[in-house]
Amino acid sequence: MPYVVTQSCCADASCVLACPVNCIHPAPGEPGFATAEMLYVDPKACVDCGACATACPVDAVKPHTKLTAGEQPFVALNAAYFDTVDPHLDRTPLALVPAKRPVEGPLRVAVVGAGPAGMYAADELLKHSGVTVDVFDRLPTPYGLVRAGVAPDHPTTRQVTTLFRHIEGERGFSYVLGVEVGKDIRHDDLMQRYGAVVYTVGAATDRTLGIEGEELPGSASATHFVAWYNGHPDHTEPPVALDSERAVVIGNGNVALDVARILATDPARLETTDIADHALEALRASMVREVVLLGRRGPEHAAFTLPELIGLAGRTDIDVVVEGELAVTDDKTALLAELAARPKDPARRRIVLRFHTSPVRLVGGDRVSGLEVSSGDVIEAGVVLRAIGYRGVPVPDLPFDEATGTVPNDHGRVAPGVYVAGWIKRGPSGFIGTNKTCAEETVDRIFDDLEAGLLTTPMRRDLPEHIDLRGWRAIDRLERETGAAQGRPRVKLTDRAALHAAATRTRRRGRRRAG
Ligand code: NAP
Repeated sequence: MPYVVTQSCCADASCVLACPVNCIHPAPGEPGFATAEMLYVDPKACVDCGACATACPVDAVKPHTKLTAGEQPFVALNAAYFDTVDPHLDRTPLALVPAKRPVEGPLRVAVVGAGPAGMYAADELLKHSGVTVDVFDRLPTPYGLVRAGVAPDHPTTRQVTTLFRHIEGERGFSYVLGVEVGKDIRHDDLMQRYGAVVYTVGAATDRTLGIEGEELPGSASATHFVAWYNGHPDHTEPPVALDSERAVVIGNGNVALDVARILATDPARLETTDIADHALEALRASMVREVVLLGRRGPEHAAFTLPELIGLAGRTDIDVVVEGELAVTDDKTALLAELAARPKDPARRRIVLRFHTSPVRLVGGDRVSGLEVSSGDVIEAGVVLRAIGYRGVPVPDLPFDEATGTVPNDHGRVAPGVYVAGWIKRGPSGFIGTNKTCAEETVDRIFDDLEAGLLTTPMRRDLPEHIDLRGWRAIDRLERETGAAQGRPRVKLTDRAALHAAATRTRRRGRRRAG
């Protein structure tokens, strides 16, 4: 069996396009693609050419001979997809590269938000001559959740930044970083300067439980915790003190699994990652030995994906305890049963999975001391993190659907000239690569409107002071150089002033050199 898709699959389908024998499924447009946890290589059809591995932006496709012990389960997982799901019998190479629309500029587009949806949208737009794209972000750094959300112990997932570096080097691409739309520049100002504005602002906040005690110190949202350990400049203070033996994480999604794993990881293992220095220090001093993960439904409904569970199962430094009876109904529950049966070592940190348990109220005086749950039990814990989903926030001057936390849109069009892509368009679900097809759909609407003559010609070009591509490259270089000296991919600057200084220092040096 030649090539195998593994855990960090981002599902952007680059491999599907590269495959000369159409053996990677589900492909875009096929049933199940939009909700697939990952893509799968058919072992019987693969010709071992390696084109998929070259195309994959996150190094998730590997020859079976190069798999680690922890990745071995992916061999059966890839094969099983073709035994049990739609057999995709037509093997005509897809060469799915969508026919390029004969659209040409001039068109000046503002993309607001430099995360994956914004980068994929820029890439799609810049395939057409005469189109220029300015990508805005309120932070001095781009890449959104790829920088501030992906767990630091998942470095291959972050490799999608190599693709983003390629996109930002394309002709017609510019950054306008450190500029907040709605504050430093208004929506109307953008409409005067661009023919089209695409909001790819993601889901900037989290859902709340609405239960008693949620605001107590010791209780926080996992999204803040994630932003803190990833060095987001708005979250430099620890959201909770890690001074108790047990932490509870409410929710059963991949974010819940990420924060539970980081809390249960031996800090020595994180020393070679790009985790924020302040978080590494706090985790070294952490007293947390046990993390209880609460799922309100059963294991068969757990929102965490099988690839992520396989990744956790491959970790020899963490014990996974599964409480309660377990009916084996699918691959996920089978793996949970296997984890439950593994011998435990009290010297290791542990993650306890408790299902069919809802939070009722947080208890405590001046800080959290426990969580009362639906069974009536109180789980003693000094830390309670809710990981029950992200939530979009209203975009100034755009309509907003409070129920879904999204901007109402028709396949990405809000109104002629105004568009959305990513989580603010479809809600907070899916993987990094899901944003590629999402952005392509939106860009199609922009070109529909351009062809119909509905886009206006910009009247102005002036912009507020900002960090451009050169400034970001200077920050990037400094972070990488500092990291290299410590055997880490980078050491993140987490302070806005330091980020601005890094961006401008090199520019000044450059000017001096030029003079
Ligand atoms: P999610 O996948 O939507 O999971 C949310 C979890 O919270 C679900 O288990 C849900 O349970 C639970 N929940 C919701 N309301 C609750 C309540 N009131 N009480 C108790 N539990 C509640 O969200 P997420 O974990 O934030 O992830 C967001 C997206 O990013 C997902 O698509 C995820 O796969 C993706 N992501 C991927 C990775 C990765 O690939 N490594 C990492 C992080 C995130 P119910 O199912 O019962 O509603």
